[in-house]
Amino acid sequence: MVFVFCLTVFYYAVVPAPNIDTIVSLAKRRGFVFPSSEVYGGLGSAWDYGPLGVELSNNIKQSWWRWLVYERDDIEGIDSSIILNRLVWRYSGHEETFNDWLVDCRKCKGRFRQDKVFDKNADGSFQPNQCPTCGSKDWTDARAFNTMLQTKLGAVADDDPSALAYLRPETAQGIFINFLNVQTSMRRKLPFGIAQVGKSFRNEVTPGNFILRTREFEQMEMEYFVAPDGDHWKLVDYWVEAYMDWFSSLGLSRENLSLYEVPGDERAHYSKRTVDVMYRYFPEREKPWEELMGIAWRTDFDLSAHSKNRLDAEGKRINPDSTEDLSYFDEPTKTRFYPHVIEPAAGVNRTVLAVLMDAYSERTNDKGETRVILKLVPKLAPIKAAILPLAKNKPEIVGMAKAIKRSLQPTLRAVYDDTGGIGKLYARQDEIGTPLCVTVDHQSLEDEAVTVRDRDTWEQERVKVADLADHLHRRLQM
Ligand code: ATP
Repeated sequence: MVFVFCLTVFYYAVVPAPNIDTIVSLAKRRGFVFPSSEVYGGLGSAWDYGPLGVELSNNIKQSWWRWLVYERDDIEGIDSSIILNRLVWRYSGHEETFNDWLVDCRKCKGRFRQDKVFDKNADGSFQPNQCPTCGSKDWTDARAFNTMLQTKLGAVADDDPSALAYLRPETAQGIFINFLNVQTSMRRKLPFGIAQVGKSFRNEVTPGNFILRTREFEQMEMEYFVAPDGDHWKLVDYWVEAYMDWFSSLGLSRENLSLYEVPGDERAHYSKRTVDVMYRYFPEREKPWEELMGIAWRTDFDLSAHSKNRLDAEGKRINPDSTEDLSYFDEPTKTRFYPHVIEPAAGVNRTVLAVLMDAYSERTNDKGETRVILKLVPKLAPIKAAILPLAKNKPEIVGMAKAIKRSLQPTLRAVYDDTGGIGKLYARQDEIGTPLCVTVDHQSLEDEAVTVRDRDTWEQERVKVADLADHLHRRLQM
């Protein structure tokens, strides 16, 4: 094997932490994420995933699913409906309490989430700040706003209350109501988990910051069911560490991740402990951190709330509408109880954004020209290898390059590209994070070998076509 090192005029001034705006423009220019409904002026908080964005987000979801459902022995996967019986949301408490607290600026009429524009005092009360739009301090009192998105089922009159339904604001409830189905059909004993990935919807008051906060988003949630007398505090720590390791495997550096022990007055009413994993989404701001995911000990609240047998202090059924009891019979101790739950809940979109921010780097040469290199870990790269002909007007070279692309495609995502000179083609692949480029040149026709170029080092290596698939798989660690 012959090694050829690429001579380059680029000097490396690596710029690691960009801001979200840098990513927005790269994402649009290169087909990761587009503003939605742009032909009609857009739709505030909605974004569409383009050809590369859908691959990146699928790769993140696949990595998560493999890690939890395939590589562990104690987790099952499901895919429940987005629209559930309305009673699910009544008994889960969402109808009553899934609220944001709103304040309006009396001067400019701007409407904001109170906790996003006011500072919090030590006693939990809020300290009014200036309106971020007009600077006024003339605020209305805070009032609750339920953020579940409503719809109507069936061909009914506009005002028929029985047709009211919600688009789920979390995937978790679909897991809780299937607890017994999964446990009995898969003959599971505690502890075990159920994982689900899918869309959720929240009528956010102030969506924004690109795909960080939207009204339609995707979640990867897992409910880990354990006995009520377990060490739940320690289990939260265990899952925090497990997720920190998983995020590292996606290329996120530890210095861009931090943990936030959520105080009692900020936790959901069902949670006895919540730790948020924060990402440095705003390196340029005074408050750089925003939530990437949360890990909550949800107690036995949800399973018992959906169960028909649970009684209140006066012996009355708490849930007269349920037809099931979601308790668990523990054979060794011959006891029946409602399992407790540890829930790691992560956002797909926020993970996509963090991955793009961490992978972004720039190199500038002595002429001041800048190149973007997206250092995605190979398992997340939308395209694993680009097959590039050195001369697109030479049918033998083009034919060989296309044949190589077709032969690789069954086992890894490869593309063929001949829409520019080789320097431009390399630059384009660097910018979208393709780890390896394969170049077919005149010599290839003679020696049945190609040049494999590394995205991060720009080193080139000559490889026999017969060994190419193995070589790429080894380099990509797939
Ligand atoms: P926030 O405080 O930022 O509104 P949350 O604490 O309400 O988030 P959870 O209910 O814990 O969020 O949801 C779990 C995860 O789902 C979040 O950590 C986040 O990654 C993702 N998520 C929640 N709301 C949104 C949204 N509007 N847009 C994108 N992702 C979201």
